[in-house]
Amino acid sequence: MRLTLFFSLFLLCACVSQTVYLNEKDLPLHHLPNGHFRNTDTLTPPVRDTMEADSLVPKFRTRMYELPIVRGNENLWEDSNAISATWIGHSTFYIRWKNFGILTDPIFSERASPVTFAGPKRGTKPGRSLDSLPQVDLVIISHDHYDHLDKASVLQIFKKNKAVVFAVPLKVAEILIRWGIPKKQIIELDWWESAKVGNLNLTFVPAHHTSRRGLLKSSKNSTLWGGWVIEKSGFKIWFAGDIAFGDGSYYKEIGKRFSPIDVSFLPIGSYKPSRYTRQHISPRQAVQLHLMVGSKKSIAMHWGTFGMVYERLEDPKKDLKKAKTELKIPESDFFTLFHGEICPLFE
Ligand SMILES: [Zn+2]
Repeated sequence: MRLTLFFSLFLLCACVSQTVYLNEKDLPLHHLPNGHFRNTDTLTPPVRDTMEADSLVPKFRTRMYELPIVRGNENLWEDSNAISATWIGHSTFYIRWKNFGILTDPIFSERASPVTFAGPKRGTKPGRSLDSLPQVDLVIISHDHYDHLDKASVLQIFKKNKAVVFAVPLKVAEILIRWGIPKKQIIELDWWESAKVGNLNLTFVPAHHTSRRGLLKSSKNSTLWGGWVIEKSGFKIWFAGDIAFGDGSYYKEIGKRFSPIDVSFLPIGSYKPSRYTRQHISPRQAVQLHLMVGSKKSIAMHWGTFGMVYERLEDPKKDLKKAKTELKIPESDFFTLFHGEICPLFE
């Protein structure tokens, strides 16, 4: 009976899944028989490392205010030999890879929420409006949480870029199809699966995290989560998505398969009080990951934009600085950008 149910579920999903598992016993460890997903590494206890004692962390959500928005370097978008990253805010970057435009976890909305009147609100406006960006050819999505998969932004991007391709984790395609994105423009991958988009090679890689949209508990972990490695001509970018450290084994493996990585985009916010490190990494853990995967440069994300948890707005940047000194990495190897800043990447 269970197996029959499993087969029916599988048939429903087969339109978007690439790998076929004929038997339940063949399922990869991170797949559950009910079609949901799980982390397969061991969750280590919450960390405090460079963080203050939980008792000193503010009891209210982060007070947000406008951070500076900068301009300049737009010529990099026009340069067909340049690779650049523009920080829009939170985990949204516009990566211009020569003449190819990529958006990561795009959110241009006022709130990270299913409704427009409630939910975490942004302090700083998007560093660049969608209309001011050059063409978007590819959107990569790490998971379905509202601050990473925003319906209004997805629809605006599609309206403006009719040929854009969306690369998403398993089971997220059905959400996009429901919103009206054509199935043929969606690539849906499982951990370690790869696909080609234009001249770029994309691999969906594991992360320790969760997924959930809506109020129903049953939606928890019903879609997969992860990060993306994008490669072309030996140049590699790792967009880590939203991650906890777990026992570090997923990231060791990413390092083993892809090191050296030229540029990593790593989250540094939403880690206080320490219980949040069950879902996120602290700046110190981000520096550890930078070292673990052999990243030449890392750029910080997931901070300074939405009032999501309890650390002060400036804490992630300050704690990143402390962690770099403590772990002895040069200041310029792992840095933050200003909203709207366009940063050249190297080949
Ligand atoms: Zn998340």
